[in-house]
Amino acid sequence: MAAITEQTIRELATFDGKGVPVTSCYIDVDGRRLRRHQDVEHELDTLLRGARARANGSPSVHDDLRRIESFVRGGLDRSRTRGLAIFACSAHDLWRVLPLPVPVRSRVVVNHMAAVGQLEAVVQEYDRFGVLLVDKQRARMFVFELGELVERSELFDELPRDYDARGEKERGDVAPHVEALAHQHVRRAAAAGWRLYQEEHFEHLCLGAPDELAGEVERELHPYLRDRLCGRIAVSAGAPVEEVRRAALEVEAAQERAKEAALVQRLRDAVGGRRRGVAGLAGVLAALGERRVEHLLVSSGYAEAGWRCEPCGLLATVGRRCVLCDGTMQEVDDVVEEAVDEAMAQSCRVEVCEGNADLDVLGRIGALLRY
Ligand SMILES: [Zn+2]
Repeated sequence: MAAITEQTIRELATFDGKGVPVTSCYIDVDGRRLRRHQDVEHELDTLLRGARARANGSPSVHDDLRRIESFVRGGLDRSRTRGLAIFACSAHDLWRVLPLPVPVRSRVVVNHMAAVGQLEAVVQEYDRFGVLLVDKQRARMFVFELGELVERSELFDELPRDYDARGEKERGDVAPHVEALAHQHVRRAAAAGWRLYQEEHFEHLCLGAPDELAGEVERELHPYLRDRLCGRIAVSAGAPVEEVRRAALEVEAAQERAKEAALVQRLRDAVGGRRRGVAGLAGVLAALGERRVEHLLVSSGYAEAGWRCEPCGLLATVGRRCVLCDGTMQEVDDVVEEAVDEAMAQSCRVEVCEGNADLDVLGRIGALLRY
């Protein structure tokens, strides 16, 4: 599965159809829910029926939908793919299929820009992270992306086999040697971690090592890697990959929740002090219209019907007359998702927060403002 980076998302978010609508399609193909290929086709049919009705006779959109249909019907390898995000604009040769190892909410959006909100939420939830497991002789290194293993490496430094069994007197002679070997092993493990980081890049690193080794490993890590350390996991160097993955996902989720909580606190302070902060949907949409948003915060799963002005792009909770250009606004099913897309297109940062009660109290959406 190719890496989906912020760069990929920004490119999609700023794609300009020059008046031709862009079709964004998210489809849940999770094999745990949709067991047979037929079930996926059924999901697709329901989705496309609604989309065709809304396509408004745009030939490019009809081509997009046809292409999406034949792509999905053509069959998918669902062993690792649980969701698909497809972006198309046939008139301008845009066709991007992004397979995702996590399920998505099925929907088709036809809009003047790509609907990247859901994709952004998925990518954010699962940063790329590394895991380094070290014991006395072994080091194993893993890289996970979107919660799935993408790379692994391993090294083994054999210690003198019988050093534990030797007599006291003899051991006295070999102990410093064994210690030097053990230290060399830790340095090699740290170096292997650094090499993998240079090749594979990741945001966070979890370390699994016995207590007596962990401190030494941390000291030997390249400073860049040490900065990315986000916790230790109680997983032995010989653990099965699935156990490693689960432990790392827990650390990852805790890390993400903490980051969100800190941002929500900043928002609360800003709103409370009336300094460069706004909470609630109406205020956020107005700030987006004025291009004042620096960082958008939104509760995961928050959706609300609203309005979009075709001529000027303004989003609002109340229509149908646009307060900016006096144009006629169109109703949209989910103005929150449109707000996320708009924020991405304006190069704002976007944080989708999972189960943050403080943000819910603020109206489930808020923004830190540039001015
Ligand atoms: Zn307008």
